[in-house]
Amino acid sequence: MRAVVTGGAGFVGSRVCEALVGSGAQVVCLDNLLTGSLGNVAALRGHPAFRFEHCDVVEGFTSRAVRAALRHGIDLVLHLASPASPVDYLEHPIETLDAGSRGTRAALELAGEHDARLVLASTSEVYGDPQVHPQTEEYWGNVSSVGPRSVYDESKRFGEALTAGYRRALGTDTGIVRIFNTYGPRMRAHDGRVVPTFVRQALAGEPLTIAGDGSQTRSLCYVEDLVAGLLAFAHSGHPGPMNLGNPHELTVTRIAEDVIRATGSASAVEHIERPLDDPGKRCPDITLARTELGWEPQIAWLDGLARTVSWFRSRSRGAA
Ligand code: NAD
Repeated sequence: MRAVVTGGAGFVGSRVCEALVGSGAQVVCLDNLLTGSLGNVAALRGHPAFRFEHCDVVEGFTSRAVRAALRHGIDLVLHLASPASPVDYLEHPIETLDAGSRGTRAALELAGEHDARLVLASTSEVYGDPQVHPQTEEYWGNVSSVGPRSVYDESKRFGEALTAGYRRALGTDTGIVRIFNTYGPRMRAHDGRVVPTFVRQALAGEPLTIAGDGSQTRSLCYVEDLVAGLLAFAHSGHPGPMNLGNPHELTVTRIAEDVIRATGSASAVEHIERPLDDPGKRCPDITLARTELGWEPQIAWLDGLARTVSWFRSRSRGAA
């Protein structure tokens, strides 16, 4: 198995690269390091089955170095390249639109050229602020095309449309997974997502900032579970779209309380204004993944949280 992982130096992508190399695959990781880092793939560098090439997927895969890296052929393209956290896509709106549109098109062309399967890492954000709970793959979503989050939501929706179009029109072997909130080690402390924000604040003894009254819910999947589901989907040949996430729903207030307990912090909580478009409820229906892949998350929230806290602690010790 020869696999290309775009966005492979990111939080999820680096875990995907590790799991693929661990299963005996040859992996080419392509990343422009916009929101990822070489530190995430440091443990893999030098491994004979792993190669990193600096590459902007929006520009395509034509550089000499990338061509050389792909010369032995490809069986699988996992297309993860895209800013993913609200802080990142609000800071890089055009790059985000480009990654989902031009970048996805280039990845589809690459897969077609090599007769490879392409898996698009889409997102629960395609459901927007959902009016149906939990969300099944049949739900079409409730998305503003011009709101601040639209650069991400709509680029992923367009990426899905492109992927479905290539499958229908050109017979490309494609699959779409809709990933729900995922957390774990290697998230950046300032990426704006709820778990790293609360853990960072708790470890620093600062107040945990809850947006709004905290009654909005999040369903959080530990990264190791997500990667297992993503790879099972990649190998299944299923076209998707398929939800991957943890259906265990938690209020933001409960997440804050659990983080305070897990860190042993004396931090208080503080309520701040809720951002525009912040979804009120998000919960995946994972019946399809359970049935088709026999997959469901294994790692309980408090265990995953403990591992995440311990990673953040070791990082802050390293930085001290
Ligand atoms: P991340 O920001 O850590 O990783 C994204 C990676 O893509 C980074 O390494 C970044 O440098 C790279 N990248 C961005 N634009 C690129 C470009 N034009 N060319 C090459 N590389 C580029 O984010 P993540 O959380 O690991 O997310 C990975 C994928 O999973 C994304 O596509 C995201 O939309 C999707 N996803 C993640 C979550 C989650 O909760 N983490 C949820 C839903 C979907």
